[in-house]
Amino acid sequence: MSVYNAVVLRSIKRNISRISNPKLPTIAGHKLLYECNLRCKMCPFWRRKDEKLLSLKQEISMMDKLVEGGVSYLGFEGGEPLLRNDISDILKESHKRFHTSMVTNGWLLSKKIDSISNYLDYLFVSIDGKMEIHDSMRGIKGSYSHAINGIKSAKKQVPLAMSSTITSENIDHVSDFLDIAKDNDIHVNFQIEYDYTTAEKISPQKEKLKNVLDYLIDEKKQGAPIMNTVEYFESIKNSWFNGISWECRPWLTINIDPSGRVVTPCYIINEYKGDNYIWDIDIKKLWNSYNWDPYKSCNKCALSCYLEPSLFKWRDPSMVKSRIIDATIDYIKFATKKTF
Ligand code: SF4
Ligand code: SF4
Repeated sequence: MSVYNAVVLRSIKRNISRISNPKLPTIAGHKLLYECNLRCKMCPFWRRKDEKLLSLKQEISMMDKLVEGGVSYLGFEGGEPLLRNDISDILKESHKRFHTSMVTNGWLLSKKIDSISNYLDYLFVSIDGKMEIHDSMRGIKGSYSHAINGIKSAKKQVPLAMSSTITSENIDHVSDFLDIAKDNDIHVNFQIEYDYTTAEKISPQKEKLKNVLDYLIDEKKQGAPIMNTVEYFESIKNSWFNGISWECRPWLTINIDPSGRVVTPCYIINEYKGDNYIWDIDIKKLWNSYNWDPYKSCNKCALSCYLEPSLFKWRDPSMVKSRIIDATIDYIKFATKKTF
């Protein structure tokens, strides 16, 4: 339970710090590199050239700044994080400081899981449908079988879920995601595709999306292995179809690009372009002087890493059950299985 100790202690410190700094990030996302071994249609990142990547020492210094800024959860992504040869050292350092997660396309997962599993609290493997659709969206044949083999090897060692993006190419097959999750005894976290200017435009057709949101709400209520809260799907439906917005709170998540620059106000606005190097800023000062007001009513994307924290309320029993109690039960179940 050292992970929970780290998170609980950090949350207490963070809440004390919040008295003088009302806006602080809880979650950090860090792209370790833009390079990727896949060529996903909807992804702008593999199309970018990496500048000089951070050394392990710089990664550690970034983490120390995030600790100072009040962050409890650090998620690594890319590009493909497993392409970094020092990935296990980076995760090891993160695990000492944060609840640590990573998103991977799974191609290298079977080979690398033994060296990283001790330092991960949660792992997400991207799956975009059954083999034909997944391989077509990911741009490389064999992506699906590598990802599924990776899931089979990794799920014994680390709590794991599929990360699945709903697009115009898979929206007619959303039940396939639930079948894959059930077949592999894992959960699925859904994202709704956002059309970046520098990638193929395959966000889902709005008229189909409304029915899919209703379908996922029903499935979740009936106990399907879906990580997103019912409130997540309902908020998208309310905003995009019924004119009732959610209040976006992008300051809860801080993103750091592969060169160590902080992405503000969020991942989508400015399309993941960082400004100031994390070493040159005081997160607490920047966060509490930045003008976040224009973004409260934005509702432009439905990225779960922004929307779920924005929606979370301790006084909402359904959200506390979904995000805290169920997640803790899953964690205990996994830890018990691993021990015996
Ligand atoms: S696997 Fe991820 S980073 Fe790589 S191309 Fe696909 S979406 Fe982009
Ligand atoms: S809804 Fe708007 S402000 Fe919020 S994360 Fe998405 S693009 Fe950013």
